[in-house]
Amino acid sequence: MLALSIAATITITVCKASSPRYIFYFIGDGMGMGAIMTGELWKHIITGDTTSTIFKQFPIASFATTYSASSPVTDSAAAGTALSSGMKTRNDMVGMLPDSTAVNSIAIKLQELGYGTGLVTSVAADDATPAAFYAHVPARKMYTDIDADFARSGIDFLAGAGLRGLNKRHKKNTTTDSLLQLYNYKIFRDINAIPDNVSKVILLNNDTLQPSTIGYNIDTRGSGMTLAAMTGAAISHLEKYHPEAFFLMIEGGEIDHAAHANDAASLAWEMMSFDEAIKVAWNFYLAHPDETLIVVTADHNTGGISIGNTATGYNAHFELLTSQKVSKNRFADIISEISDNNTPVKWDEIKNMMTDKLGLWDKIPVTADEEDSLKDAYTATFINHDGKKFYTLYADFDPLTTTAFKIIDNHSGAGWISNNHTGNPVPVFAAGTGAEKFSRMLDNTDIPRIIMSLVSTQDKSCHK
Ligand SMILES: [Zn+2]
Repeated sequence: MLALSIAATITITVCKASSPRYIFYFIGDGMGMGAIMTGELWKHIITGDTTSTIFKQFPIASFATTYSASSPVTDSAAAGTALSSGMKTRNDMVGMLPDSTAVNSIAIKLQELGYGTGLVTSVAADDATPAAFYAHVPARKMYTDIDADFARSGIDFLAGAGLRGLNKRHKKNTTTDSLLQLYNYKIFRDINAIPDNVSKVILLNNDTLQPSTIGYNIDTRGSGMTLAAMTGAAISHLEKYHPEAFFLMIEGGEIDHAAHANDAASLAWEMMSFDEAIKVAWNFYLAHPDETLIVVTADHNTGGISIGNTATGYNAHFELLTSQKVSKNRFADIISEISDNNTPVKWDEIKNMMTDKLGLWDKIPVTADEEDSLKDAYTATFINHDGKKFYTLYADFDPLTTTAFKIIDNHSGAGWISNNHTGNPVPVFAAGTGAEKFSRMLDNTDIPRIIMSLVSTQDKSCHK
Protein backbone atom coordinates (compact mmCIF):
# COMPACT_ATOMS: atom_id res chain seq x y z
CA MET A 1 0.00 0.00 0.00
CA LEU A 2 2.77 2.40 1.01
CA ALA A 3 4.91 1.55 -2.02
CA LEU A 4 1.93 2.04 -4.32
CA SER A 5 1.12 5.40 -2.74
CA ILE A 6 4.67 6.57 -3.38
CA ALA A 7 4.48 5.37 -6.99
CA ALA A 8 1.28 7.35 -7.47
CA THR A 9 2.78 10.47 -5.88
CA ILE A 10 5.73 10.51 -8.25
CA THR A 11 3.51 10.85 -11.33
CA ILE A 12 1.32 13.66 -9.92
CA THR A 13 3.40 16.50 -11.34
CA VAL A 14 2.17 15.92 -14.89
CA CYS A 15 -1.45 16.64 -13.93
CA LYS A 16 -3.12 19.93 -13.11
CA ALA A 17 -3.74 20.24 -9.39
CA SER A 18 -7.28 21.54 -9.88
CA SER A 19 -8.64 18.23 -11.20
CA PRO A 20 -9.26 15.15 -9.10
CA ARG A 21 -7.35 12.02 -10.09
CA TYR A 22 -9.02 9.92 -7.42
CA ILE A 23 -12.77 10.25 -7.12
CA PHE A 24 -14.78 8.62 -4.33
CA TYR A 25 -18.55 8.72 -4.69
CA PHE A 26 -20.36 7.48 -1.59
CA ILE A 27 -24.10 6.85 -1.87
CA GLY A 28 -25.96 6.09 1.33
CA ASP A 29 -29.05 4.40 -0.09
CA GLY A 30 -32.06 5.96 1.64
CA MET A 31 -29.81 8.16 3.82
CA GLY A 32 -31.76 11.26 4.74
CA MET A 33 -30.61 13.76 7.36
CA GLY A 34 -32.47 11.78 10.05
CA ALA A 35 -30.40 8.70 9.23
CA ILE A 36 -27.23 10.76 9.47
CA MET A 37 -28.22 12.10 12.90
CA THR A 38 -29.18 8.58 14.00
CA GLY A 39 -25.68 7.43 13.03
CA GLU A 40 -24.08 10.33 14.83
CA LEU A 41 -26.08 9.81 18.03
CA TRP A 42 -25.14 6.14 17.81
CA LYS A 43 -21.45 6.92 17.48
CA HIS A 44 -21.64 9.04 20.64
CA ILE A 45 -23.54 6.32 22.53
CA ILE A 46 -21.44 3.34 21.41
CA THR A 47 -17.95 4.83 21.38
CA GLY A 48 -18.26 7.75 23.82
CA ASP A 49 -16.61 9.83 21.09
CA THR A 50 -18.71 13.00 20.75
CA THR A 51 -17.10 14.24 17.54
CA SER A 52 -19.16 14.20 14.34
CA THR A 53 -19.14 11.35 11.88
CA ILE A 54 -16.26 11.85 9.43
CA PHE A 55 -18.31 13.13 6.51
CA LYS A 56 -20.14 15.71 8.62
CA GLN A 57 -16.71 17.24 9.19
CA PHE A 58 -16.18 17.77 5.44
CA PRO A 59 -15.71 21.46 4.52
CA ILE A 60 -18.65 21.49 2.08
CA ALA A 61 -22.24 20.53 2.89
CA SER A 62 -25.36 21.15 0.86
CA PHE A 63 -28.60 19.50 -0.23
CA ALA A 64 -29.86 17.89 -3.41
CA THR A 65 -33.42 17.42 -4.63
CA THR A 66 -34.24 13.87 -5.71
CA TYR A 67 -37.55 13.82 -7.65
CA SER A 68 -37.65 11.55 -10.70
CA ALA A 69 -39.12 12.09 -14.15
CA SER A 70 -42.24 10.20 -13.10
CA SER A 71 -42.71 11.06 -9.42
CA PRO A 72 -41.86 13.50 -6.62
CA VAL A 73 -40.85 10.34 -4.71
CA THR A 74 -38.01 8.65 -6.57
CA ASP A 75 -36.96 5.01 -6.38
CA SER A 76 -33.34 3.85 -6.39
CA ALA A 77 -33.41 3.12 -10.13
CA ALA A 78 -34.31 6.65 -11.25
CA ALA A 79 -32.20 8.23 -8.49
CA GLY A 80 -29.24 5.99 -9.34
CA THR A 81 -29.55 7.02 -12.98
CA ALA A 82 -29.64 10.71 -11.98
CA LEU A 83 -26.59 10.31 -9.72
CA SER A 84 -24.64 8.26 -12.26
CA SER A 85 -25.50 10.02 -15.53
CA GLY A 86 -26.92 13.42 -14.62
CA MET A 87 -30.21 12.58 -16.35
CA LYS A 88 -33.71 12.24 -14.91
CA THR A 89 -35.67 9.13 -15.76
CA ARG A 90 -38.83 7.32 -14.67
CA ASN A 91 -38.96 5.18 -11.53
CA ASP A 92 -37.87 1.57 -12.23
CA MET A 93 -35.65 2.55 -15.19
CA VAL A 94 -31.89 2.09 -14.96
CA GLY A 95 -29.35 3.90 -17.14
CA MET A 96 -31.85 5.08 -19.71
CA LEU A 97 -34.03 8.09 -20.41
CA PRO A 98 -37.85 7.81 -20.18
CA ASP A 99 -37.90 7.09 -23.94
CA SER A 100 -35.48 4.14 -23.40
CA THR A 101 -32.43 5.88 -24.87
CA ALA A 102 -29.38 4.55 -23.02
CA VAL A 103 -27.25 7.07 -21.12
CA ASN A 104 -23.68 6.50 -20.02
CA SER A 105 -22.66 6.89 -16.40
CA ILE A 106 -19.69 8.90 -15.21
CA ALA A 107 -17.97 5.57 -14.44
CA ILE A 108 -18.01 4.73 -18.14
CA LYS A 109 -17.15 8.30 -19.20
CA LEU A 110 -14.21 8.38 -16.78
CA GLN A 111 -13.11 4.95 -17.98
CA GLU A 112 -12.93 6.42 -21.50
CA LEU A 113 -10.62 9.10 -20.08
CA GLY A 114 -8.32 6.42 -18.68
CA TYR A 115 -9.60 6.20 -15.13
CA GLY A 116 -9.78 2.82 -13.38
CA THR A 117 -13.29 2.10 -12.18
CA GLY A 118 -14.73 0.31 -9.15
CA LEU A 119 -18.20 -0.22 -7.69
CA VAL A 120 -18.81 -1.46 -4.15
CA THR A 121 -22.08 -2.15 -2.36
CA SER A 122 -23.32 -3.97 0.73
CA VAL A 123 -26.34 -5.26 -1.21
CA ALA A 124 -26.57 -7.08 -4.56
CA ALA A 125 -24.00 -5.91 -7.07
CA ASP A 126 -26.77 -5.83 -9.70
CA ASP A 127 -29.13 -3.81 -7.51
CA ALA A 128 -30.40 -0.53 -8.95
CA THR A 129 -27.75 1.80 -7.50
CA PRO A 130 -24.60 0.00 -8.71
CA ALA A 131 -26.41 -1.09 -11.90
CA ALA A 132 -27.06 2.55 -12.80
CA PHE A 133 -23.28 2.89 -13.28
CA TYR A 134 -23.01 0.16 -15.93
CA ALA A 135 -26.43 -1.12 -17.11
CA HIS A 136 -29.26 0.07 -19.35
CA VAL A 137 -32.60 -1.61 -18.66
CA PRO A 138 -36.21 -0.40 -18.58
CA ALA A 139 -36.93 -2.29 -15.32
CA ARG A 140 -34.61 -2.72 -12.35
CA LYS A 141 -35.39 -6.40 -11.80
CA MET A 142 -34.04 -7.51 -15.21
CA TYR A 143 -31.06 -9.03 -13.45
CA THR A 144 -29.72 -11.27 -16.23
CA ASP A 145 -29.73 -8.30 -18.61
CA ILE A 146 -28.10 -6.12 -15.95
CA ASP A 147 -25.40 -8.76 -15.38
CA ALA A 148 -24.83 -9.06 -19.13
CA ASP A 149 -24.35 -5.28 -19.33
CA PHE A 150 -21.88 -5.55 -16.48
CA ALA A 151 -19.88 -8.25 -18.30
CA ARG A 152 -19.46 -5.84 -21.23
CA SER A 153 -18.83 -2.75 -19.08
CA GLY A 154 -15.08 -2.95 -18.60
CA ILE A 155 -15.48 -1.91 -14.91
CA ASP A 156 -12.31 -3.08 -13.14
CA PHE A 157 -13.64 -4.03 -9.72
CA LEU A 158 -17.16 -4.94 -8.58
CA ALA A 159 -17.99 -5.93 -5.01
CA GLY A 160 -21.35 -6.78 -3.49
CA ALA A 161 -23.39 -9.52 -1.88
CA GLY A 162 -24.14 -11.34 -5.13
CA LEU A 163 -25.18 -11.17 -8.76
CA ARG A 164 -28.76 -12.36 -9.02
CA GLY A 165 -28.39 -13.37 -12.66
CA LEU A 166 -26.02 -16.09 -11.44
CA ASN A 167 -28.57 -17.45 -9.01
CA LYS A 168 -31.44 -17.89 -11.41
CA ARG A 169 -32.33 -21.53 -11.73
CA HIS A 170 -32.70 -21.58 -15.48
CA LYS A 171 -30.54 -21.52 -18.56
CA LYS A 172 -29.80 -17.84 -18.33
CA ASN A 173 -27.40 -18.22 -15.40
CA THR A 174 -25.07 -20.11 -17.74
CA THR A 175 -25.28 -17.08 -20.02
CA THR A 176 -24.25 -14.78 -17.17
CA ASP A 177 -21.44 -17.12 -16.17
CA SER A 178 -20.05 -17.54 -19.66
CA LEU A 179 -20.42 -13.84 -20.48
CA LEU A 180 -18.42 -12.92 -17.39
CA GLN A 181 -15.74 -15.44 -18.40
CA LEU A 182 -15.74 -14.18 -21.97
CA TYR A 183 -14.92 -10.69 -20.73
CA ASN A 184 -12.22 -12.03 -18.38
CA TYR A 185 -13.97 -11.44 -15.08
CA LYS A 186 -13.03 -13.70 -12.21
CA ILE A 187 -15.36 -14.14 -9.24
CA PHE A 188 -13.90 -14.35 -5.72
CA ARG A 189 -15.84 -15.16 -2.60
CA ASP A 190 -13.07 -14.49 -0.10
CA ILE A 191 -11.87 -10.91 0.31
CA ASN A 192 -8.42 -12.15 1.35
CA ALA A 193 -8.00 -14.45 -1.63
CA ILE A 194 -7.90 -11.98 -4.53
CA PRO A 195 -4.63 -12.73 -6.35
CA ASP A 196 -2.33 -9.99 -7.65
CA ASN A 197 -2.55 -11.02 -11.27
CA VAL A 198 -6.29 -10.69 -11.97
CA SER A 199 -7.22 -7.33 -13.44
CA LYS A 200 -11.02 -7.78 -13.65
CA VAL A 201 -12.39 -8.73 -10.25
CA ILE A 202 -15.86 -9.52 -8.92
CA LEU A 203 -15.95 -9.94 -5.15
CA LEU A 204 -19.10 -11.56 -3.72
CA ASN A 205 -20.45 -13.01 -0.48
CA ASN A 206 -19.21 -16.50 0.35
CA ASP A 207 -22.84 -17.37 1.04
CA THR A 208 -24.19 -17.94 -2.48
CA LEU A 209 -27.72 -18.29 -1.06
CA GLN A 210 -27.66 -14.71 0.14
CA PRO A 211 -27.11 -12.54 -2.96
CA SER A 212 -29.12 -9.56 -1.68
CA THR A 213 -27.12 -8.46 1.36
CA ILE A 214 -23.80 -9.00 3.10
CA GLY A 215 -25.87 -9.04 6.32
CA TYR A 216 -26.93 -6.30 8.69
CA ASN A 217 -24.07 -5.17 10.91
CA ILE A 218 -26.31 -5.57 13.97
CA ASP A 219 -26.51 -9.29 13.10
CA THR A 220 -22.99 -9.96 11.78
CA ARG A 221 -21.11 -7.72 14.27
CA GLY A 222 -18.06 -7.53 12.03
CA SER A 223 -17.94 -11.16 10.94
CA GLY A 224 -18.07 -11.59 7.18
CA MET A 225 -17.39 -8.76 4.75
CA THR A 226 -17.75 -5.16 5.87
CA LEU A 227 -18.25 -2.15 3.62
CA ALA A 228 -14.96 -0.70 4.93
CA ALA A 229 -13.01 -3.87 4.06
CA MET A 230 -14.61 -3.99 0.60
CA THR A 231 -13.70 -0.33 0.07
CA GLY A 232 -10.11 -1.09 1.10
CA ALA A 233 -9.96 -4.06 -1.29
CA ALA A 234 -11.27 -1.88 -4.13
CA ILE A 235 -8.67 0.82 -3.46
CA SER A 236 -5.84 -1.75 -3.36
CA HIS A 237 -6.98 -3.19 -6.67
CA LEU A 238 -7.37 0.17 -8.40
CA GLU A 239 -4.03 1.43 -7.06
CA LYS A 240 -2.40 -1.65 -8.56
CA TYR A 241 -3.93 -1.44 -12.04
CA HIS A 242 -4.72 2.28 -12.34
CA PRO A 243 -2.35 4.11 -9.97
CA GLU A 244 -2.67 7.37 -11.92
CA ALA A 245 -6.43 7.85 -11.70
CA PHE A 246 -9.52 6.00 -10.59
CA PHE A 247 -13.20 6.40 -9.80
CA LEU A 248 -14.81 4.40 -7.00
CA MET A 249 -18.52 4.36 -6.09
CA ILE A 250 -19.42 2.89 -2.69
CA GLU A 251 -23.04 2.28 -1.76
CA GLY A 252 -24.30 1.75 1.80
CA GLY A 253 -27.23 -0.32 0.56
CA GLU A 254 -28.54 -1.67 3.82
CA ILE A 255 -29.21 1.80 5.20
CA ASP A 256 -32.23 1.69 2.87
CA HIS A 257 -33.26 -1.83 3.89
CA ALA A 258 -33.19 -0.94 7.60
CA ALA A 259 -35.16 2.24 6.95
CA HIS A 260 -37.79 0.41 4.85
CA ALA A 261 -38.20 -1.94 7.83
CA ASN A 262 -38.44 1.05 10.23
CA ASP A 263 -35.67 -0.55 12.29
CA ALA A 264 -33.79 2.27 14.01
CA ALA A 265 -31.09 0.19 15.74
CA SER A 266 -30.17 -1.60 12.51
CA LEU A 267 -30.13 1.74 10.71
CA ALA A 268 -27.78 3.14 13.37
CA TRP A 269 -25.39 0.19 12.93
CA GLU A 270 -25.46 0.62 9.13
CA MET A 271 -24.65 4.32 9.47
CA MET A 272 -21.61 3.44 11.64
CA SER A 273 -20.45 0.99 8.99
CA PHE A 274 -20.93 3.58 6.23
CA ASP A 275 -18.85 6.07 8.23
CA GLU A 276 -16.11 3.42 8.65
CA ALA A 277 -16.01 2.94 4.86
CA ILE A 278 -15.77 6.72 4.35
CA LYS A 279 -12.87 6.78 6.82
CA VAL A 280 -10.96 4.43 4.49
CA ALA A 281 -11.38 6.95 1.64
CA TRP A 282 -10.56 9.81 4.02
CA ASN A 283 -7.23 8.16 4.90
CA PHE A 284 -6.52 7.82 1.18
CA TYR A 285 -7.36 11.52 0.78
CA LEU A 286 -4.91 12.44 3.56
CA ALA A 287 -2.18 10.65 1.59
CA HIS A 288 -3.23 12.34 -1.71
CA PRO A 289 -4.79 15.64 -0.58
CA ASP A 290 -4.29 17.53 -3.84
CA GLU A 291 -5.70 14.90 -6.20
CA THR A 292 -8.61 13.36 -4.32
CA LEU A 293 -12.29 14.29 -4.31
CA ILE A 294 -14.78 12.63 -1.94
CA VAL A 295 -18.50 13.21 -2.43
CA VAL A 296 -21.00 11.70 0.01
CA THR A 297 -24.71 11.80 -0.72
CA ALA A 298 -27.87 9.69 -0.85
CA ASP A 299 -30.17 8.62 -3.65
CA HIS A 300 -33.28 9.44 -1.62
CA ASN A 301 -34.62 9.53 1.91
CA THR A 302 -36.19 6.30 3.16
CA GLY A 303 -38.61 6.06 6.07
CA GLY A 304 -38.28 9.74 6.97
CA ILE A 305 -36.86 8.95 10.42
CA SER A 306 -36.80 11.84 12.88
CA ILE A 307 -34.93 12.17 16.16
CA GLY A 308 -37.81 12.38 18.63
CA ASN A 309 -41.50 11.67 18.09
CA THR A 310 -44.84 12.57 19.69
CA ALA A 311 -44.40 9.95 22.41
CA THR A 312 -41.00 11.24 23.58
CA GLY A 313 -41.81 14.94 23.29
CA TYR A 314 -38.76 17.19 23.53
CA ASN A 315 -36.40 14.30 24.00
CA ALA A 316 -35.10 11.10 22.46
CA HIS A 317 -33.48 8.05 24.06
CA PHE A 318 -31.59 6.26 21.34
CA GLU A 319 -29.41 4.68 24.03
CA LEU A 320 -32.35 2.29 24.59
CA LEU A 321 -31.65 0.85 21.14
CA THR A 322 -28.37 -0.64 22.40
CA SER A 323 -30.37 -3.44 24.04
CA GLN A 324 -31.62 -4.59 20.62
CA LYS A 325 -29.38 -7.55 19.72
CA VAL A 326 -30.80 -8.53 16.32
CA SER A 327 -32.29 -6.78 13.30
CA LYS A 328 -36.06 -6.55 12.96
CA ASN A 329 -35.75 -8.96 10.00
CA ARG A 330 -33.84 -11.48 12.11
CA PHE A 331 -36.32 -11.06 14.96
CA ALA A 332 -39.20 -11.76 12.55
CA ASP A 333 -37.32 -14.86 11.33
CA ILE A 334 -37.05 -16.11 14.91
CA ILE A 335 -40.78 -15.55 15.41
CA SER A 336 -41.66 -17.43 12.25
CA GLU A 337 -39.28 -20.31 13.11
CA ILE A 338 -41.09 -20.69 16.45
CA SER A 339 -44.50 -20.32 14.81
CA ASP A 340 -43.69 -22.87 12.07
CA ASN A 341 -42.57 -25.36 14.71
CA ASN A 342 -46.23 -26.00 15.58
CA THR A 343 -45.47 -26.81 19.21
CA PRO A 344 -47.49 -24.57 21.53
CA VAL A 345 -45.42 -21.74 22.91
CA LYS A 346 -46.27 -19.97 26.16
CA TRP A 347 -46.54 -16.20 26.51
CA ASP A 348 -43.77 -16.22 29.15
CA GLU A 349 -41.35 -17.89 26.75
CA ILE A 350 -42.04 -15.27 24.09
CA LYS A 351 -41.80 -12.52 26.68
CA ASN A 352 -38.38 -13.80 27.81
CA MET A 353 -37.23 -14.01 24.20
CA MET A 354 -38.29 -10.39 23.62
CA THR A 355 -36.42 -9.32 26.76
CA ASP A 356 -33.30 -11.14 25.59
CA LYS A 357 -33.32 -9.99 21.94
CA LEU A 358 -34.85 -6.52 22.24
CA GLY A 359 -34.47 -5.41 25.85
CA LEU A 360 -38.23 -5.02 26.42
CA TRP A 361 -39.18 -4.98 30.14
CA ASP A 362 -35.48 -4.77 30.92
CA LYS A 363 -33.91 -1.59 29.47
CA ILE A 364 -37.06 -0.57 27.61
CA PRO A 365 -40.11 -0.06 29.84
CA VAL A 366 -43.40 -1.63 28.71
CA THR A 367 -46.63 -0.02 29.92
CA ALA A 368 -49.72 -2.09 30.80
CA ASP A 369 -51.42 -1.01 27.54
CA GLU A 370 -48.35 -1.93 25.53
CA GLU A 371 -48.17 -5.34 27.23
CA ASP A 372 -51.83 -5.91 26.32
CA SER A 373 -51.13 -5.11 22.68
CA LEU A 374 -48.15 -7.50 22.70
CA LYS A 375 -50.34 -10.24 24.20
CA ASP A 376 -52.96 -9.66 21.48
CA ALA A 377 -50.24 -9.91 18.83
CA TYR A 378 -48.88 -13.07 20.51
CA THR A 379 -52.36 -14.65 20.36
CA ALA A 380 -52.80 -13.71 16.71
CA THR A 381 -49.33 -15.00 15.77
CA PHE A 382 -48.98 -18.18 17.83
CA ILE A 383 -52.45 -19.28 18.98
CA ASN A 384 -54.94 -18.28 16.29
CA HIS A 385 -52.43 -18.00 13.42
CA ASP A 386 -54.65 -15.27 11.99
CA GLY A 387 -52.35 -12.28 12.33
CA LYS A 388 -52.19 -10.06 9.30
CA LYS A 389 -48.65 -9.63 8.03
CA PHE A 390 -47.24 -6.20 7.36
CA TYR A 391 -45.38 -6.08 4.06
CA THR A 392 -42.50 -3.75 3.23
CA LEU A 393 -40.22 -3.72 0.19
CA TYR A 394 -37.63 -6.15 1.57
CA ALA A 395 -39.46 -7.99 4.35
CA ASP A 396 -42.79 -8.94 5.84
CA PHE A 397 -43.49 -8.66 9.51
CA ASP A 398 -45.87 -10.63 11.74
CA PRO A 399 -48.07 -8.68 14.20
CA LEU A 400 -45.82 -9.42 17.18
CA THR A 401 -42.71 -8.04 15.46
CA THR A 402 -44.62 -4.97 14.27
CA THR A 403 -46.05 -4.30 17.75
CA ALA A 404 -42.74 -4.86 19.57
CA PHE A 405 -40.89 -2.42 17.32
CA LYS A 406 -43.62 0.23 17.64
CA ILE A 407 -43.08 0.05 21.41
CA ILE A 408 -39.32 0.42 20.94
CA ASP A 409 -39.95 3.52 18.78
CA ASN A 410 -42.34 4.96 21.38
CA HIS A 411 -39.68 4.85 24.06
CA SER A 412 -36.54 5.60 22.03
CA GLY A 413 -38.10 8.48 20.06
CA ALA A 414 -37.37 7.11 16.60
CA GLY A 415 -40.05 8.78 14.50
CA TRP A 416 -40.95 7.07 11.23
CA ILE A 417 -43.14 8.61 8.58
CA SER A 418 -43.20 5.83 5.98
CA ASN A 419 -42.09 2.33 5.03
CA ASN A 420 -41.23 3.71 1.62
CA HIS A 421 -39.16 6.59 0.31
CA THR A 422 -39.93 10.27 0.78
CA GLY A 423 -39.47 13.15 -1.64
CA ASN A 424 -37.37 15.16 0.81
CA PRO A 425 -34.01 16.47 -0.38
CA VAL A 426 -30.87 14.60 0.69
CA PRO A 427 -27.62 15.97 2.08
CA VAL A 428 -24.42 16.29 0.04
CA PHE A 429 -20.97 16.47 1.63
CA ALA A 430 -17.74 17.08 -0.27
CA ALA A 431 -14.04 17.25 0.54
CA GLY A 432 -10.91 17.59 -1.55
CA THR A 433 -10.17 18.80 -5.06
CA GLY A 434 -13.17 20.62 -6.52
CA ALA A 435 -15.31 20.19 -3.40
CA GLU A 436 -16.27 23.88 -3.38
CA LYS A 437 -18.29 23.33 -6.59
CA PHE A 438 -20.89 21.47 -4.52
CA SER A 439 -21.58 24.38 -2.15
CA ARG A 440 -25.07 25.36 -3.29
CA MET A 441 -28.55 23.89 -3.34
CA LEU A 442 -28.26 21.11 -5.92
CA ASP A 443 -30.41 18.70 -7.85
CA ASN A 444 -29.20 15.09 -7.89
CA THR A 445 -28.42 15.42 -11.62
CA ASP A 446 -25.95 18.25 -10.86
CA ILE A 447 -23.61 15.97 -8.90
CA PRO A 448 -22.22 13.79 -11.74
CA ARG A 449 -22.22 16.84 -14.05
CA ILE A 450 -20.03 18.75 -11.60
CA ILE A 451 -17.69 15.75 -11.25
CA MET A 452 -17.31 15.54 -15.05
CA SER A 453 -16.80 19.31 -15.34
CA LEU A 454 -13.90 19.05 -12.89
CA VAL A 455 -12.31 16.28 -14.90
CA SER A 456 -12.95 17.43 -18.46
CA THR A 457 -10.96 20.62 -17.91
CA GLN A 458 -7.81 18.66 -17.28
CA ASP A 459 -5.11 17.36 -19.55
CA LYS A 460 -6.29 13.89 -20.51
CA SER A 461 -2.75 12.73 -21.23
CA CYS A 462 -2.04 12.50 -17.52
CA HIS A 463 -4.36 9.49 -17.30
CA LYS A 464 -2.93 7.51 -20.19
ZN1 LIG B 1 -35.42 1.88 -1.04
